[in-house]
Amino acid sequence: MSVLSSIGRFAPSPTGPLHFGSLVSALASYLDIKKRQGQWLVRIEDIDPPREVPGASATILQQLEAHGLHWDGAVLYQSERLPDYLAALDQLRQKDLIYFCQCNRQRMQSLGGIYDSHCRYLQLTAENSATRLNVGEINAECQEFNDLIMGQYQQCLRAEVGDFVLRRRDGLFSYQLAVVVDDHYQGITHIMRGSDLLDSTPRQLYLQQCLGYRRPDYMHLPVALNTDGQKLSKQNHAAALTPHQEAHNLYTALLWLQQEPPAELAHLSVSEILSWGITHWTISKIPSTMGISAPKEF
Ligand code: GLU
Ligand code: ZN
Repeated sequence: MSVLSSIGRFAPSPTGPLHFGSLVSALASYLDIKKRQGQWLVRIEDIDPPREVPGASATILQQLEAHGLHWDGAVLYQSERLPDYLAALDQLRQKDLIYFCQCNRQRMQSLGGIYDSHCRYLQLTAENSATRLNVGEINAECQEFNDLIMGQYQQCLRAEVGDFVLRRRDGLFSYQLAVVVDDHYQGITHIMRGSDLLDSTPRQLYLQQCLGYRRPDYMHLPVALNTDGQKLSKQNHAAALTPHQEAHNLYTALLWLQQEPPAELAHLSVSEILSWGITHWTISKIPSTMGISAPKEF
């Protein structure tokens, strides 16, 4: 008898050390997949060298370990996966689903973010071009899915997004392409991540259809907000987690996720807190809101 095993992942971009918001994503994806008796993989999304901070990957991995968040198997680095992204583009090219685009920033700005397919029939060459995916060919209707936290979500790609970029003019692959190719490659069955990526999911579902991949289950968490109501992030100068407070960080993250940890848990070890977290993990207790203020100290 073979049972399809559950596989989850945490996929940080190495733009800086973990902060409270990214710890919450790591912890939630870990507890959820362990509750399903699955494997938890870590993938470093290092395909955007200009945004990368030297040493950040190593720091993130060390912070995960300090929090007892031990991953299964080897860490996957997207920077080593470029041949597979090219192969996926080739597959899409054979289906005539992609085309080159030479629209400049100014033209894109005048469109207000939704690309109008201007270059689709121009037969432009690869040189100095971005590669876009035609969203109107396969399954032209709207993309819809049931998020296990946020509920039903729908987006019509033609009207709300337009033909989106899979490879930039500078040759870098887009997050949307790399994430879909790698979630498939790693056999990911459950995707738990921040609500800031909720509106990327329909693009990813569409790409999965174009490439003939299976659709994983999705869960989007509220993001942790700073006092200005913005998502905690490197760009907003979110503080890196303080070393030697791992048990406290995990306990606070469980509280924030409204898992209702008992007060005594705060004084236990990292591994005891995690094992309580797995046993008592209840997705339905997570609020289905886009954001929640981070605790003051973070
Ligand atoms: N690398 C992305 C980020 O750090 C997350 C990708 C994902 O979970 O799909 O925001
Ligand atoms: Zn164009």
